Amino acid sequence: QSQTMTMSPHDFDPTRAEVRQQRVAHRLASAIAHGRLQVVYQPEIDVQTRQVISLEALCRWHDEELGTVAPDEFIAVAEARGQIAPLGEYMLQRVLTDLPAVLRQWPSARVAVNVSGVELARADFAERVAEHIRAVDPRMAHHLELEVTESVFHHDVPTVRQHLLSLRELGLTVAIDDFGTGQSSLSRLHTLPFDKIKLDRLFVLEMQAPMVRAIIRGMAHLAQEFQRTLVVEGVETPEQQAQLLELGCPIQQGYLMQSPLPLAELLARKLG
Ligand code: C2E
Ligand code: MG
Ligand code: MG
Repeated sequence: QSQTMTMSPHDFDPTRAEVRQQRVAHRLASAIAHGRLQVVYQPEIDVQTRQVISLEALCRWHDEELGTVAPDEFIAVAEARGQIAPLGEYMLQRVLTDLPAVLRQWPSARVAVNVSGVELARADFAERVAEHIRAVDPRMAHHLELEVTESVFHHDVPTVRQHLLSLRELGLTVAIDDFGTGQSSLSRLHTLPFDKIKLDRLFVLEMQAPMVRAIIRGMAHLAQEFQRTLVVEGVETPEQQAQLLELGCPIQQGYLMQSPLPLAELLARKLG
């Protein structure tokens, strides 16, 4: 009895979950079509040099009827209902529009966009991305990064690999997002081309365990050995920041340094 009270109705009422998904999908389609999605940016910072390494673009949606919908919900709906490609292209266009202002403040930074495995598995992904970049300024390729999660391994890996290879040739970089939470991540790491690993915030949450600290230190060594960048996500306290520095992880992202903000607000901050 008490257990059912803590469950959301969606957990055991498939029709209700279905109705919600349909409604979200319907409103989302119109939000994308009318440009009503917002973009916020969260920096990755080298806390030793104070340098801003990159800004991650994150999608925000406040709907008149549904209220604020969390990205975890609407991204999943977009993936399931064929809207992730238009959403991804919308985000890419917004980021390309914002890039000149970002570069005026942080000339060597990159802007990172999150890309779903569903998008990456599409045959025309790389070509579409390249077209958007060409339409603006080909040099912008050197200031773009794609964040992919280990969920790409559920898709056609050779296709994904080919897209990433050809986009890297244009100058983009690739980051593996939320690293360490997926399945057999270490064994599959070498099968994709990438430049950066973003260590999932779960490692930070469990850093009091000596073995977790050893894993973080090991990941820092691994990244160094293969000349990849390691970023730690979800840094919330000064203690975590200091401990991560000791473990060899100076590049950090999290609420402690800066929570995600609209670009104009971020530009007004003294970062780095
Ligand atoms: P992500 O790419 O791993 O992004 C990091 C998430 O952690 C963001 O949540 C960010 O706001 C949050 N975060 C940042 N610092 C901290 C911290 O110190 N502590 C904690 N607890 N959280 C922190 P958000 O914005 O809700 O996004 C959730 C996920 O939704 C993202 O995870 C990403 O996978 C997806 N997402 C967001 N925007 C897009 C998008 O435009 N396209 C795609 N495909 N996915 C997106
Ligand atoms: Mg990300
Ligand atoms: Mg992440």
